[in-house]
Amino acid sequence: TRSTSAMLYLDGVHVSFDGFHAINNLSLTLEPGEMRAIIGPNGAGKTTMMDIITGKTKPDKGEVVFDGTVDLTKLDETEIAKLGIGRKFQKPTVFESQTIEDNLLLALNVDHRVRGTLFWRRSRDESERIERVLDIIRLRDARDRLAGSLSHGQKQWLEIGMLLAQDPKVLLVDEPVAGMTDVETQQTAELLREINSHDKTVMVVEHDMTFVRELGVKVTCLHEGTVLAEGSIDDVSANERVVEVYLGR
Ligand code: ADP
Repeated sequence: TRSTSAMLYLDGVHVSFDGFHAINNLSLTLEPGEMRAIIGPNGAGKTTMMDIITGKTKPDKGEVVFDGTVDLTKLDETEIAKLGIGRKFQKPTVFESQTIEDNLLLALNVDHRVRGTLFWRRSRDESERIERVLDIIRLRDARDRLAGSLSHGQKQWLEIGMLLAQDPKVLLVDEPVAGMTDVETQQTAELLREINSHDKTVMVVEHDMTFVRELGVKVTCLHEGTVLAEGSIDDVSANERVVEVYLGR
């Protein structure tokens, strides 16, 4: 495996399902501390790419390297999660009958179980982290409320907070603003920018172009399992091939 300065490095990755090439020579690099938006039509391979990074799907070919040197193709999902790669799926899965603060504590606790610690007391570092997370996800004043009473958008933020509680190096976020109001969408862009400003590397898959524009980061457009275009949102959305793909021609 080669050694790079990248936080995530994919090179020449292939995945096929029964002969269908879902990922077809995919190469992508995220630098440490970078936030990247991933767009692309349905079936482009966005979900499969995240499955590859998290170890849910193993590539047939190609390199997947984390933090410069760690070959992710050799590790299983639990090992990859422990390295500090957190994933947020599209649908929020918070513990509805627990308070917001307890949801965050449960997220920490899960992390400890993964580490095999039987008797766990919250360290000062962890308590401070929970306080920071409550601020970032804009739920400090609601910390004692039941998660079930939150709006859809707030549940998404809480789930992002549950990932943050585990202090990951990389966050993979799948369609965070689906079903959100315009205001929540804009606040989510701010929230992700803030997370990114705290040295987290972030990959966001999203269809909502207003939101992607709001993020203001480099965009990668996938199509047929490979990179079709990469650059600023203006460059990518003006790219002829991207326009064709989105118009379905
Ligand atoms: P996206 O997330 O961009 O919509 P996906 O990664 O879900 O795309 O899918 C890429 C392609 O691979 C699609 O054509 C999809 O039907 C196919 N695919 C994904 N997972 C499987 C699977 N487990 N078995 C067969 N085909 C799959």
